[in-house]
Parts: sequence; structure tokens; C-alpha cells
Amino acid sequence: MVASPPRTRIAYAAMSTVRASVIPAPGAAAEIREYDEPELERDSALLDVSLSEVCGTDVHLRAGRLAGVPYPLIPGHVSIGTLSKVRGDVHDVEGRPLREGDRVTFLDVHRTCNACWYCLVAKATTRCPSRRVYGITYGADDVLAGGWAEKVYLKPGTRILPADGVDDDAFMAGGCSLPTALHALERAAVRIGDAVLVLGSGPVGLSCIILARMAGALDVYCIGGPANRLEAARAVGATDVLDFESALPEARAAWVRERTGGRGADVTIEATGSPRAVVDALRATRDAGRVVVVGQYTDHGEVPFNPHHDLNRKQLDVLGCWGSDFSHFHRAVRIAADSQRSAPWRKLQLRRYSLADANSAIDDVAAGRVVKALIDPHLA
Ligand SMILES: [Zn+2]
Ligand SMILES: [Zn+2]
Repeated sequence: MVASPPRTRIAYAAMSTVRASVIPAPGAAAEIREYDEPELERDSALLDVSLSEVCGTDVHLRAGRLAGVPYPLIPGHVSIGTLSKVRGDVHDVEGRPLREGDRVTFLDVHRTCNACWYCLVAKATTRCPSRRVYGITYGADDVLAGGWAEKVYLKPGTRILPADGVDDDAFMAGGCSLPTALHALERAAVRIGDAVLVLGSGPVGLSCIILARMAGALDVYCIGGPANRLEAARAVGATDVLDFESALPEARAAWVRERTGGRGADVTIEATGSPRAVVDALRATRDAGRVVVVGQYTDHGEVPFNPHHDLNRKQLDVLGCWGSDFSHFHRAVRIAADSQRSAPWRKLQLRRYSLADANSAIDDVAAGRVVKALIDPHLA
């Protein structure tokens, strides 16, 4: 670790070193380290990071709660910035060459193989065993592979998306939650006029509320907390909200039934991280409705439920939803580039942190004190 005073970007460029915030080991606090700027191999690029995000996954990463993470780690899986170097053939999904100076983002998932059983037979690329994720399963030893750094090395084969016309704040207010929520809404198959219940008011829950409205839901209810996040839920289009700590589980289900003709929600999306919420989702959904589980990104243990009452007799469709693929990312960028469609995300309160403040950012996300925390590597 090398302590260094804040520098201007011009001075930094001349020094060819890159500052990054690094989690050295499971359970250890993030610290500043400096790396040499890497030599670019053929068909790769270097991204000058404008903003990267802090999400629930980063809380789990510092706590050491995710398996298969190669520490030391530079977190930050969704980022936006400017290509500062490009070598060889680097192009977007429509074959257009990407050049130095282009504003871009990139799919954090790399090396999806398009050759394995999951990719080719199940058509579920999010379960491809070859996939690696920037800022999560690529460690710091994999060369600047996380967004909590002044630069990210975009390896050959990284899916880079031009961010022309994209509002950085709107895109990053969604962050990884936006493509994840797009995937969840795809699974949810909301119909025009549906009553949708979203459990959780973190970034994924908030993006689900916005997208459920966009998908045609007439009413969107949210049970979550704390108060600042419920305010955000209302601001982005929730019909009504309930603080989950203010009512016991049966009262929460009754609150939903009161608003849905006594039946329950047509579709419920669970985005909380608490196993208990999955049971709440089953019980708050109407018979023959649909439940999408997208909040269980780490193992918080088991939970009992009654298969007869909660599932079989209710004739529920229950779907899991893991991560996102290129199509979700592509649509996320398109939404962020549309000033009208991206407006709800611009209502979300952002808080920017410097690389040196990464631990405060993780603490604030863990406590729900911020709606969306972002890392600005150029903030002194
Ligand atoms: Zn595969
Ligand atoms: Zn994330």
C-alpha cells in the first residue's frame, strides 16, 4: 500500500499508476493500493472510470460471505467512463468500432462460453460455469478488474456498450440493480393492469417498481424500509408502501389483500435478501399468481413453509432469477439514454464517495442509510 496525496488527473496520467480501493481478504477493510497501468494486449481497452457503484454484493464481499472470490479484490462490477486506450479490434454488438475517447459501460460478466450445456441447451447463460465477473470473481491479481479504481482493464472479449446520450447519474442510480431488475421483470411477465407487490426497497426493489410500472402494472405496492427508501419507492411510482418492521408477517399479508380485492398480488417480486421474505411473497400472492425471487444473493439459511397451503393449493408459479445477461444490460443502457424513461432513476438520492471512503460507503449501504452509493475515483 502506498499512501499518496490527491493528484490532478493530468499529473496522474504522466505517472502511469492507477489508484484502487482493495479488499485485501475476507472480513478485512478496504484500503488504497497503487498498481502499474497494464500493457494492453490485443483487442483490449482501458477504461477511465467516471463512476462505479457500491451494492449489497460489496457488503457481502467485504464480510467474506461469498464463495469463490479471489482476494485481494478490487470491487465495483458496474461502472461507466471513457475509453482512454484501445488496442486492436474492439467493437460494440452492432459491429461499430469503439475508439479512444468514447463514453462506454461494459457487461460485468465476462467469458460466458456459448459452448457449454447451460449456454446451449438450457439457454441460461447466467448459469454458465465459465462466466467470471469483474469486481467479484476476478481478483486484483487479474489486472485492474474492478471499478473502484481510476482505471479498469477491459480484457479481450469484454462486452463494451457505447453510452452515447446516457445520463451517468440515471444509469448509475440503477447500477447493477437495473439489469437485474430487467431480468426479474422478464421472469415476472407482468400484464397490463396487474397489481404487483415488490418486497424490498433497496436499489433492486426500486428498479423493479419503476419497471413494473413501465411494463403496465396498474398498482405497485412496496413493503420495505427504512423510511428514506420507502420515500424513494413512493417517488418512483409505488402506489402505497408499508414499513416491514411496523407489522407482523400476517398483518403484512393482510395489508396486501386489503389493496387487491382480498386476493393478494398478481405478481410478487422478492428483493430483500431475507429468506423469510420468500415465504411472505408466497403468502401475499393471489392463487395462480407468480412469484419471482431475486433477493437471495448470499446464503442466509433455510426457512420453513407449508407446501400444501403456500404453494401446491395456491397453484403458484415461483421463479428464481440470477444476475443478468447482455440483453438486460443492453436494454438498461437504452433506458438510461432516454431522458423521459430514465426520469424515475434521476429522482433517487445518490451519494458519492472517494476511493479512500469506500469503507464508509459499504457501511452506509449495509445500514440502508443511502439509496444508492457510488464511488467516484477522481473525488479527492
Ligand atoms: Zn457456458
Ligand atoms: Zn451489484
